[in-house]
Amino acid sequence: MKEVQINGVRVRPGQSVNIELPIAKLPTHTLIDLPIFIRSSKNEGPVILISGGVHGDEINGVVTAKKILEELDHGLELLRGTLIIIPLVNIYGFLSNSRTFPDGRDLNRSFPGNKKGSLASRIAFILSQEIIPQIDFGIDFHTGGRMLSNQPQIRVDFKDKMGLELANAFGTHFIVNSKHIEKSFRKTAFNARKHLLVYEGGESMRLDSYAIEEGISGTKRLLNHLGMIGIAPDSKNTVTLSQSDWVRAKASGIFYSSVKLGDYVRKGEIMARISDPYGQVVVPVKSGTNGYVIGLNNNPVINVGDALIHLGKE
Ligand SMILES: [Zn+2]
Repeated sequence: MKEVQINGVRVRPGQSVNIELPIAKLPTHTLIDLPIFIRSSKNEGPVILISGGVHGDEINGVVTAKKILEELDHGLELLRGTLIIIPLVNIYGFLSNSRTFPDGRDLNRSFPGNKKGSLASRIAFILSQEIIPQIDFGIDFHTGGRMLSNQPQIRVDFKDKMGLELANAFGTHFIVNSKHIEKSFRKTAFNARKHLLVYEGGESMRLDSYAIEEGISGTKRLLNHLGMIGIAPDSKNTVTLSQSDWVRAKASGIFYSSVKLGDYVRKGEIMARISDPYGQVVVPVKSGTNGYVIGLNNNPVINVGDALIHLGKE
């Protein structure tokens, strides 16, 4: 039977093990560990990674992974296989309410990493060496940006047929075709023939209870599909979107949206208005296509060229 081994610690079937992987020291010389929680069934099965906080300000993902861990430790039975749960990958970003590391580097653009590289690169290296080889599949929990909210969606490259099957099993509102990005966690995992789903829900620095609940529900549907747990909530009417684009502001001003996340819009439909602060000028924002609102800017004050509404096409 396949045995998980992380940082020299062997996890036997049926064991629950918490590992604190030493990362680096803060400038204060406070030691920073990466806490990793492994929950293994007595029965052989897949090894699944559940990770959050690769971007340190995307707190919904941290809470989603934390809640799944809590459920496992309070009665949710693992029927087979192993879960590796890392609720908070980017501790540095979390401490500073930032997506990135203190030097501005994005962990999700630092893979596969380097033992002697930047801090982000070193952590990417640890994940590439210690975690990716252990897993079969994974779900990496993300959110939209600052003031940019995403309707729950799985991002997967449609060329990855296994990834697409897993995304369907996850069964949330949308599956969005998203090419692998160079130096990302997902691409590095895929190069090792592992399938990492990226979940997006809500926005950074704001807890969104629906996005968190839906992340947990989707994870349960996926684990149930893989025979790892015995019960899961019903899936949504998942819509598969082969292409998605942001509608950008043609003028600066105050942004009033008349659409909500998840809405279906038709070509030519007025989705929003941008006005000056004095009631002299109003510019409509029209949809250039039929599609679904999968992301929305919640910032009322916008500049020309800002991303306003993310539309996905079937
Ligand atoms: Zn992210």
